[in-house]
Amino acid sequence: MSDVLYFVIPCYNEEEVLPETAKRLKQKMHALMDAGKISPQSHVLFVNDGSKDGTWELIRGFHEEDPLFSGLNLSRNRGHQNALLAGLMTVKDFADMAISMDADLQDDIDACDAMIDKYLEGKDIVYGVRSARKTDTFFKKTTAEGFYKVMNRMGAQTVYNHADYRLMSRRALQGLAGFGEVNLFLRGIVPMIGYPSDVVYYERAERFAGESKYPLKKMVSFAVEGITSLSTEPIRMITNLGFFVFLVSIIILVYSLVRHAMGATVAGWTFLNVSVWAIGGLILLSLGVIGEYIGKIYLESKGRPRFIIEQFLDTEHGYTTRDFPEKQ
Ligand code: UDP
Ligand code: MG
Repeated sequence: MSDVLYFVIPCYNEEEVLPETAKRLKQKMHALMDAGKISPQSHVLFVNDGSKDGTWELIRGFHEEDPLFSGLNLSRNRGHQNALLAGLMTVKDFADMAISMDADLQDDIDACDAMIDKYLEGKDIVYGVRSARKTDTFFKKTTAEGFYKVMNRMGAQTVYNHADYRLMSRRALQGLAGFGEVNLFLRGIVPMIGYPSDVVYYERAERFAGESKYPLKKMVSFAVEGITSLSTEPIRMITNLGFFVFLVSIIILVYSLVRHAMGATVAGWTFLNVSVWAIGGLILLSLGVIGEYIGKIYLESKGRPRFIIEQFLDTEHGYTTRDFPEKQ
């Protein structure tokens, strides 16, 4: 029996592109089923993220026409990441693998063949990585590449040039379910799950129809969200800055004393000069220390799983999380 695949596609105001997406996915699913790579019980799940246009009516129509299509309707617009998570968490108990993809056909559907091959070889997470950004505008390309660089610099480890086109096995999805965070940044969290993973390269095309739902403003807030929900590096930077300013204040102290001894200062200058620097440095340093504690509280409050078990060796109770009991 081959494995059940679910494609999970978040959709927000995508009525222009959805019919084409559905058509191409249907072809792809049938080709995969005919090749025996996936089970005939596989589905395409469209997640409607509170669209204001006719997206949900379209999804309902697809489902009525062909049971291959499933639909999930969210109560309101919750954003790309939450919509994707909702889809993944819905299928995690009955899909053996799930592939997440954008609705706009920018990601090459054909790359999923290689993803499924890697899954069948035993990989649990397969990241789709863009090898070219030829069709993106210069602006989008530089801002997007800058985004990954800044993210990594700030301690938010992400896979370079990987968006949310990826395959996850069932146990990887169950691992993901253990991350109870509200500030969601899937690209940063998925690598934390662990398990064997691999990448598949593909070329990113232009949006098939409609407009990008990620203008610069949203991209910046996405980056801030990513950094602040993955790392406490910015707080560490305040501490370091405070330490640095405090060191500078000592130099200023020496300098001011020397100037004072040389009689080259106005009365009170030495005192004011040293105070400004020393107090400034101390304030920054103290803020940093307080920040370190807040950072700890913040990480604790997320209640992330501290580990995810892959295999348990034991004569009676042993298991490996790849083979779930009901499938044996
Ligand atoms: N999307 C969503 N909710 C939102 C915004 C976007 O579900 O609030 C979906 C959108 O329908 C698309 C995917 O997220 O399938 C990526 O959006 P988009 O293509 O606009 O982003 P870009 O490729 O320009 O970064
Ligand atoms: Mg897009």
